[in-house]
Amino acid sequence: MAEKVVIIGSGPAAWTAALYLARAGLKPFVFSGFQSGGIPGGQLMITGEVENYPGFPMGITGRELMKSMEEQARRFGTRVTGEDVIDIDLSKRPFLVRGTSTNIDTHTVIIATGANAKRLDVKGSKELWNRGISACAVCDGALPIFRNKELVVVGGGDTACEEALFLTRFGSKVHLLVRKNEMRASKIMQDRVLTSSKIEVHFQHEIMEIVGKNMVEKLRLKDSGKNEERELPAGGLFYAIGHQPNTGFLKGQLPLDETGYIQVKPGSSYTSIEGVFAAGDVCDKRYRQAITAAGMGCMAALDAESFLSHKAL
Ligand code: NDP
Repeated sequence: MAEKVVIIGSGPAAWTAALYLARAGLKPFVFSGFQSGGIPGGQLMITGEVENYPGFPMGITGRELMKSMEEQARRFGTRVTGEDVIDIDLSKRPFLVRGTSTNIDTHTVIIATGANAKRLDVKGSKELWNRGISACAVCDGALPIFRNKELVVVGGGDTACEEALFLTRFGSKVHLLVRKNEMRASKIMQDRVLTSSKIEVHFQHEIMEIVGKNMVEKLRLKDSGKNEERELPAGGLFYAIGHQPNTGFLKGQLPLDETGYIQVKPGSSYTSIEGVFAAGDVCDKRYRQAITAAGMGCMAALDAESFLSHKAL
């Protein structure tokens, strides 16, 4: 017999959807695997302290938060396999979700596989990850280690501008490194950055190496305009070079936007296929917060529940 609902993912969107559906008695089945390049538990597993998730006045680590969310979802009857989803067949009903060893027929699917922030592939990037390097200024910028330091943001898009502006509240100065001689960000964001007295924009600059013993201390840069190398002190480094949504396993089954994100009907979790819902960073390139992903997971659960009851499934 087909399942009522399968959830693919294991971040805040997936566990919140599972919690709501389990409490509604729908016994959701979760594939919490690696999701084509992601990590189980999602991006929170690679962040340190989470200070902006409401309800934890003293903060909580990303890992603890994900563990608690999973426990809460399981408590009400969520079933979980750690398997990866290899592919999915949405061309027939019930849908078929194929894991590495389990195949499941299901009337509805909630896709909550998240996205991964891209990281620079330079010397020091792996070694100093989470030691002064972050891919989310809004998540980590307020941490004490970044206070009153010279901070560096890499990227030339809207995210880079937004993060640089956000970091001016905490750092003594913010450097924005843009690899081309122009930014890709919207004009208004560029103007804000270029007129900020605390931000210095370095066009045509790329990072060659991130240097530091235990924490990021400085960067070795290439100034391709002048064709010379130089060093920049850095008390923190923030990547804002784009995200990659984990949608590879869909293999053309669901229309995606030009950057690979699932498109949902605004204000809902509806995708273009009835009975298939999406939640969290896999369909959100704008907010990308744990709390917004959790909220979207709740929306997807309510949408799936309503779909099932209308179809009397
Ligand atoms: P984008 O893909 O728009 O920009 C990524 C930036 O990173 C580009 O400037 C790119 O440079 C640069 N980059 C990529 N790889 C490297 C690298 N290896 N080294 C150095 N620089 C690199 O991503 P965003 O996250 O900024 O934005 C994604 C989408 O979300 C956009 O559509 C944006 O408009 C939207 N957004 C909207 C916001 C809002 O409305 N408030 C806020 C945030 C995002 P290059 O230009 O040279 O390719």
